[in-house]
Amino acid sequence: MPTDHVLSWNKVLDEVRKNLTPKHFNTWFVPIKPLQQEGHVLTLEVPNEFFLSHLETHFLQVLKDGVKGAIGPRSKIEYRIAMDDYKKPGIDRTKALKNEKEFQDANHIGIANPFVIPGIRKQNWEANLNPHYIFENFVEGHCNRVARQAGLQITSKPGELFNPLLVYGNVGLGKTHLLNAIGNALMKKYPKMHVLYLTSDKYTNMFIQAIRNNSTSDFGHYFQQVDVLIIDDIQYFSGKAGTQEIFFHLFNQMHQNRKQIIMGSDRAPKDLKEIDDRLISRFKWGASLELLTPDYETMMAILEEKLEEKEVELTQQVKELLCHNLKDNIREIEGVIVNIKLQSSLNGKSVSLELVKDILQSFSNRGENVVSIDAITRIVSEQTSIPVNSMLGKGRQRNIVQARQLAMYYSKKMTKKPLASIGSAFGGRDHSTVIYSCEAVENLMDTDKLFEELARKIERVIIKTLGIK
Ligand code: ADP
Ligand code: MG
Repeated sequence: MPTDHVLSWNKVLDEVRKNLTPKHFNTWFVPIKPLQQEGHVLTLEVPNEFFLSHLETHFLQVLKDGVKGAIGPRSKIEYRIAMDDYKKPGIDRTKALKNEKEFQDANHIGIANPFVIPGIRKQNWEANLNPHYIFENFVEGHCNRVARQAGLQITSKPGELFNPLLVYGNVGLGKTHLLNAIGNALMKKYPKMHVLYLTSDKYTNMFIQAIRNNSTSDFGHYFQQVDVLIIDDIQYFSGKAGTQEIFFHLFNQMHQNRKQIIMGSDRAPKDLKEIDDRLISRFKWGASLELLTPDYETMMAILEEKLEEKEVELTQQVKELLCHNLKDNIREIEGVIVNIKLQSSLNGKSVSLELVKDILQSFSNRGENVVSIDAITRIVSEQTSIPVNSMLGKGRQRNIVQARQLAMYYSKKMTKKPLASIGSAFGGRDHSTVIYSCEAVENLMDTDKLFEELARKIERVIIKTLGIK
């Protein structure tokens, strides 16, 4: 026969259920266990502190109302945290386990949640790694040899050799791939190890969530469980003093405990802006290794690796064309291959040199024929005799404003860059200024014959110089 506390709790649940979505009910009420009832006091067991804090922040009123309805107006609730007697036999954690998933969904943190239920963490640890980025498909070349080898060595002695390891280099040169490869290799070798990959933004967001949920101590506990922390794109820590502060402590703690830290950055430590000097000095404790632009042979090897992965066959001539054109950014290879595959299957055509040239053109952002904001600004400057600096500056003279607006207008029309990027390229203006400028140009073209002629001429020159079809 159910005892009082179970009966009372079932009544509470019946009440609460009416006021919540099934998802919230399952996530936040099913895991609660009634322990005892003494008079008006009902004692409930909750899985952990974080759970309790979330419950109290979001559902306290619903819970109180439910308990009042079931036990009476003078009822009181007491809590016990299950964490301590976690390993006690006979406690069914399957519900909590299931709820951990819902927990994450409900919290939108994006990786298997954080601050949950010790005890089951080992089985459920989410490293957040990309399983496709492994050493086996990370082609070694002169451009990445040192960093790749350092990564490999870390997998045999995590925490001991290079701590931290910082990999830096321009966009698209393989930092994220390499960081994930190290993490994946560690997980394979030490299945119980708690490896965690995060971008610096994700880390910042988790920290902000923790503050909002009053769960910074759970945030701290969570990171204490991490054995290998991989933080990508640390340049985005810039200007975020609070996150830097908390990361500084985490860094020190992990370092002291010989836990491995691996970081990715788009620039060398010395060039990181608005990042606390003490943090930068820590970054230099281990090894800072640069990824360079691949040479032709490495690029060809990477291209062949990707073609094999994507099951695309190309002639030698086409491959050579691709390697010559894509050498600064390996990331574009994948985009180009996907496009080649798509276009050739759509048209049912074999992959001709022409087709690949067209595709490259649409990807093009290098060399002479660059359809970039810079190039357009230069042409507008030549045609209007307004120096580029003035166009980017704050001058409000009519001819300067018009040149600036024309450059924004054609940047918008021809580069396909987002409005915000165009705005920021023009001395940090915002997207609404770009919209306004485009409207202004269109209006003037309708009403001012001379302006229209100038605009049309600029357009012709852009098309001719930048080879737009
Ligand atoms: P980054 O983080 O430096 O911007 P990524 O790691 O995202 O660059 O790499 C961009 C793309 O290039 C990914 O698809 C990655 O797999 C590929 N790539 C980069 N370097 C290599 C390499 N050495 N071997 C194979 N693929 C690579
Ligand atoms: Mg990256």
